[in-house]
Amino acid sequence: MKTIPAKTIVSSYTECGWFGSNYNMNIYKGCCHGCIYCDSRSECYQIDNFDEVRAKENALEIIEKDLRSKRKKGIIITGSMSDPYNPFEREYELTRGALKLIDMYNFGVVIDTKSDLVLRDIDILQNIKSHSPAVVNFTVTTADNVLCKQIERNVCTSSKRFEAIKKLTDSGISCGVLLMPILPFINDTEENIHDIVQKSAESGARWIYSGGNFGVTLRINQREYFYQMLDEHFPGIKNNYVNLFGDSYLCISPKNEKLNKLFVSECRKYRLLYRMENILEEIRKEFVENQIKF
Ligand code: SF4
Repeated sequence: MKTIPAKTIVSSYTECGWFGSNYNMNIYKGCCHGCIYCDSRSECYQIDNFDEVRAKENALEIIEKDLRSKRKKGIIITGSMSDPYNPFEREYELTRGALKLIDMYNFGVVIDTKSDLVLRDIDILQNIKSHSPAVVNFTVTTADNVLCKQIERNVCTSSKRFEAIKKLTDSGISCGVLLMPILPFINDTEENIHDIVQKSAESGARWIYSGGNFGVTLRINQREYFYQMLDEHFPGIKNNYVNLFGDSYLCISPKNEKLNKLFVSECRKYRLLYRMENILEEIRKEFVENQIKF
């Protein structure tokens, strides 16, 4: 694996970011999981050879320096621009090393991933949980493993992700599902929404977050790559996108309203949280309960 120089890795403080996070951390640049819709390959991020994973040089030393210099404790999120559990992580253990530091310096963590390799780090997540929030979100866009292998080509299947959620929640780690993106004409079916909500609940997830609309955003570079993949894996579908969305950034499913109604009613039926304010409340509530216990 190649490396690239970096001055800092843990960002500066924000009051309330994604899932209540205060700091962002990307140890790797690029991702080889091969999701056909990946936003991180958009031109605006200027990541050359996006599919090639590179690690930040001396990542753990830099992260330790960053954490030591923070005046405020808080929650660190990882997984926004690349999956922290790419295949190289198995050998290099940089995410694992960062979690150990996060634990040592009493920060909390939110991990967004599609990989069940996160199971390897349950021990450290449990340690973090004893003093701060430790949360894992799995992205699941389809309940169908065959479709999953077409749209998220190089990472474990949705079934494996549900199994990982079960193992994590059985170990006391709070998990949720990110139900995004929903690709118009591909996974925007009622059956898919129903199955994902049901399987999330059965595996022990506490929440499922869809972002409010069922669709995908497309930007320069991301769109070209996505269309190329549609031509390879879903012949004919590209024309539907071109005709309906043109160059729009937001590509909302024509079935959005129907799917949203179903999503909300299914989440209520299975007692899953789906509004961000309630999810944040849950994360904070559990944290306070843990503090009292210890
Ligand atoms: S796992 Fe995330 S970062 Fe990696 S290719 Fe898929 S969408 Fe992009």
